[in-house]
Amino acid sequence: MQHDPANPALVYPFATPPAPGEITEVAPGVLWFRLKLPFALNHVNIYLIEDDGGWLVLDTGLATDDGRNGWDAIMNGPLAGQRLTAMLVTHFHPDHVGLAGWLAERYGLQLRMTRTEYLFHLQARQPGGDMRGEAHRDFYRHHGLGEEVTELVMTRGHGYLRRTTLAPPVYKRIQQGDHQRVGGREFEILTGGGHAVEQAMLHRPQEKLFFAADQVIAKISPNVSVHPMEPDQDALGTYLTDLGALRGAVGPDVLVLPGHGLPFYGLHARIDELTSHHAERCGLIAKACGLHPMTVTDLLPHVFDRELDPHQMGFAFGEVLAHVNYMQGRGELREEPGNDGVMRFRT
Ligand SMILES: [Zn+2]
Repeated sequence: MQHDPANPALVYPFATPPAPGEITEVAPGVLWFRLKLPFALNHVNIYLIEDDGGWLVLDTGLATDDGRNGWDAIMNGPLAGQRLTAMLVTHFHPDHVGLAGWLAERYGLQLRMTRTEYLFHLQARQPGGDMRGEAHRDFYRHHGLGEEVTELVMTRGHGYLRRTTLAPPVYKRIQQGDHQRVGGREFEILTGGGHAVEQAMLHRPQEKLFFAADQVIAKISPNVSVHPMEPDQDALGTYLTDLGALRGAVGPDVLVLPGHGLPFYGLHARIDELTSHHAERCGLIAKACGLHPMTVTDLLPHVFDRELDPHQMGFAFGEVLAHVNYMQGRGELREEPGNDGVMRFRT
């Protein structure tokens, strides 16, 4: 047991993650391993849940050589001679759904996913990715983003195509309130928005197990962004509402098994911390917009005190806009359209 120095209410029962190619048993019939990611966030957690005659796969990894080799190392190593039975993918982000098509082909696995996440995956897989046309480009200009970064964000969708395999053409829908039978156990399905759209989580109160996907992670605040396809989206409002619902639905003493980082105890403390983190960011935005009218791009250095490369800038931009939309909806900010066609906000 290891306490988080930044928040002693969070406790990590496993001090270190499994090494590449190795597996850690986190609970009876629940295995955990990691696959590499080529980002600052350098790994994704994959879980295996004991099923009839094998293991159900929870999330699949990114479609890179590292991802495929990581699976090979597990299937030829600790899982040699064992069978995979099905896969459940929590959400459409490439590090979670990326190898679903490859695993389906290789092992004949059925895919279980929520409907919205499945459709978003298909949408993001369109030729050219999910950024289409001048309307999306105008959206970034409208909020004051420079041409270079706009270009980068607009072509990010190509990365999705490159780093995912196409999920199988048939899937089994899961949704909030479902009970998923896996082997001898039943898991309650919960869903949440804000980070993704209808992200699936698995809860087994009898054993105090909670697979949180990317909805609640220790140390990292899950990215909550607005996408130009739905520019007025209140992603942050949705995220905060759904966090509140989660706090009500899942007890404080579960073992949280997240999509990234270490498993931990302290779900409610972490939810409270994430909630106040976003309130703090709203405070920074209100303060900046109280002095001068600000574009979303102007607000970036007020919210992020570190240097952002163009790639991070894209995510940071979506994140700040999520706060701006949320605050506008609550009447804490109002729009001030400029003659230059760029939107500014003030308190
Ligand atoms: Zn995600």
